[in-house]
Amino acid sequence: MSAKWLLTILIMAALVFGIIIGQMLHDPDYDAGADQPLSAHAHGTALQIFDFLGFTVFMGLLEMLIIPLIASSVVVGITSVGDFSKLGRIGVRTLVYYFATMLAAVVLGLVLVTLVDPGASMRTAIADAPTDATAEVAAEPGEGTPAVDYVPADAVQEKAKEGLIGVARNLVSQMIPKNIVRAMAEGKPLSVITFSIFFAVVITLFGERARTVINFFNEVFEVLMKMVHAVMWVAPVGVFALLALTVARIGLGVFSGSISRYMLVVLVGLAIHGLVILPSVLWLLGRTNPLKYLHHMRQALMTALATDSSSATLPVTIECATENAGVSKRSAGFVLPLGSTINMDGTALYEAVAVVFIAQAFNIELTLLQLVVVAVTATLAAVGAAGIPSAGLVTMVIVLTAVNESLGGAGGTTIPVAGIGLIIGVDRILDMFRTTVNVWGDAVGAKIIDRMSMND
Ligand code: ASP
Repeated sequence: MSAKWLLTILIMAALVFGIIIGQMLHDPDYDAGADQPLSAHAHGTALQIFDFLGFTVFMGLLEMLIIPLIASSVVVGITSVGDFSKLGRIGVRTLVYYFATMLAAVVLGLVLVTLVDPGASMRTAIADAPTDATAEVAAEPGEGTPAVDYVPADAVQEKAKEGLIGVARNLVSQMIPKNIVRAMAEGKPLSVITFSIFFAVVITLFGERARTVINFFNEVFEVLMKMVHAVMWVAPVGVFALLALTVARIGLGVFSGSISRYMLVVLVGLAIHGLVILPSVLWLLGRTNPLKYLHHMRQALMTALATDSSSATLPVTIECATENAGVSKRSAGFVLPLGSTINMDGTALYEAVAVVFIAQAFNIELTLLQLVVVAVTATLAAVGAAGIPSAGLVTMVIVLTAVNESLGGAGGTTIPVAGIGLIIGVDRILDMFRTTVNVWGDAVGAKIIDRMSMND
């Protein structure tokens, strides 16, 4: 058996055992939504060990590689294109791909959530709950449903104040870091991406004079790929620990609780987008067999599932795309780093479904115009979400605020921001799947852009 297969089997086994052991250790009295410390869990010590192995060791090793890998892959990608009009064409295609697929995901989510109306199961439970923005949500938890008397954390309240303008300002300020060394030290991917693009474009202007710099970055990229290879041998332990931790905190009972219809809508939407829409686009525009490509990307997808982070998965995504699937370094360097922070199909779909679900639960009917507001803001909020765990939950509040502004104009009833308390307990589980779709969307984009720019 080849080393690659052995590793794949070990990671798959880790996924399965992580779920089983996690469920065995689940403590129904522990409220995952309320941010209780792990020590409050009946199996606190085991969870602290999982936390250490999963976050400190495995995700730490991956995160350690992100910044140097972004810098070298972007420089390698851009300098290997070398021609400005070609560069422009690839850039435009990449952005069109990102936005078109995110919008498709959002529309799919909106159709499903409107047809299924998962909020109906919550309506009676919260009929008497106070509905102002600062109120606690006092829903009756069903069997296996996490308690939902949780007041959203400060981060959520802050985002509500920020609004879309705040998010745009934040994005631009990240794109123009005042101090690139500090941005690198603080691990800000977007800052490093824009600096690297600028840097690489200027290198291109230097032509042959800059050959040594180009060679240097090529070699750095190769060395980092070998480091990713080595780190992946820690993945079975890391994946096991992360999954066991999540399942032990939340418990699989949520799949049969009163929130299950909402979860099902998100999961079915993600499945349709990830297994039907993206593969069709890959087949049509990328002329690639989706099953084969899925197989090539398997380690990246399993890492995304366990880590809940597109950014932490980026090293593995680049490795799988360039080494297994034959995507050129040029396309991978262009599409994957930027995609890991702004192209989030899964997050966009999730945000749209979640906002409409909360509105349904509070018996607020959204008009077509308000659904359009949801579609646009959910896409932008997904762009603004960082590739880290639960980022989508925090930026979702922007979508809520935007919809509330349009509702306020029409008559005054607004969706309570505290309604996020309804879904916060199961966020981590949904995050696993939306992150997997986010990474898959980036990978599909890299292949399509590669194919389309082959004959340029
Ligand atoms: N965890 C997601 C990601 O890293 C972002 C989100 O929370 O939706 O892609």
